Amino acid sequence: MSLEILPTFDDVLAAARRIDGHAHRTPVMRSSTIERDLGVELFFKCENFQRIGAFKFRGAFNALSRFTAAQRQAGVIAYSSGNHAQAIALAARLLEIPATIVMPADAPEGKMAATRGYGAKIVTYDRYSEDRDAIARELAEATGGTVIPPYNHPDIVAGQGTAAKELFEEVGALDALFVPTGGGGLLSGSALSAMALSPGCKVYGVEPEAGNDAQQSLEQGRIVRIETPRTIADGAQTQALGAITFEIIRKLSAGIVTASDRELVDCMDFFASRMKIIVEPTGCLGLAGARKTAPRLAGARIGIIVSGGNVDPGTFCNLLAAYSR
Ligand SMILES: *Cc1c(COP(=O)(O)O)cnc(C)c1O
Repeated sequence: MSLEILPTFDDVLAAARRIDGHAHRTPVMRSSTIERDLGVELFFKCENFQRIGAFKFRGAFNALSRFTAAQRQAGVIAYSSGNHAQAIALAARLLEIPATIVMPADAPEGKMAATRGYGAKIVTYDRYSEDRDAIARELAEATGGTVIPPYNHPDIVAGQGTAAKELFEEVGALDALFVPTGGGGLLSGSALSAMALSPGCKVYGVEPEAGNDAQQSLEQGRIVRIETPRTIADGAQTQALGAITFEIIRKLSAGIVTASDRELVDCMDFFASRMKIIVEPTGCLGLAGARKTAPRLAGARIGIIVSGGNVDPGTFCNLLAAYSR
């Protein structure tokens, strides 16, 4: 991967200008209960309050804003297990670009309905047997549309980095930042912002225990690809980092920690009962990782990216019931 095409913090700044007035500037919340329990200061950047209920609107709007007139006309094609699909669908509607979304047939119904509601066309596939990249590529060839992938794209990485940028601007320097990690777009964008705005901050990715491909990739110094992991963290069921996200993460992140499904449900319970916010399983990865690492970080100022809140109420209740002791 040549260095010139990797996004930089300047691209995050440009993305911030493009999304200004279109994306929400989400709140940073605190909870004294958990700060006391863990002996650290915690700053939650609540992207569950972002448009479409997750940070992915940032990258999507940034990427589509850069389309040429010809690209706008031919439309955008995206593949996603959910939040990227909704993000592309909404950004496309706002920018008046036709959108086609390739989604797994078993994606949460709420996410499918929302995507359809934004006016996008949906094409489904079987996530355990079919190759979504190939399906998206065929569609692109047939229609002339532009494929915007969910993480491995410079404009996506730059857009996702704006959440951490806002966090540092609001609360100042941090000692550590914990970032939910699937394909690594959010983590690499966050790391770019940390490097520029809080250079001493250790940026950790947190991925599901069942699918620790990013952790293996950093250990082995190459992109490790795994089977689609079975985890409740449906936003992080990725098989591998991308070439762009891997390069940034290996250079700038402090490492990857993992969280089990049970730990994620414990965090969902905490967010709902203590902070009165609904966080989807994947959105809990940051807190779950911080909880494990906090004993080594006594007194530290820690940022947590709460990446999204899109979980059906029924699923939310079932998960809490299934894991209650
Ligand atoms: C997509 C997503 C992630 C993972 O983001 P990547 O950029 O793929 O690492 C984390 N949390 C939520 C809620 C997501 O939608």
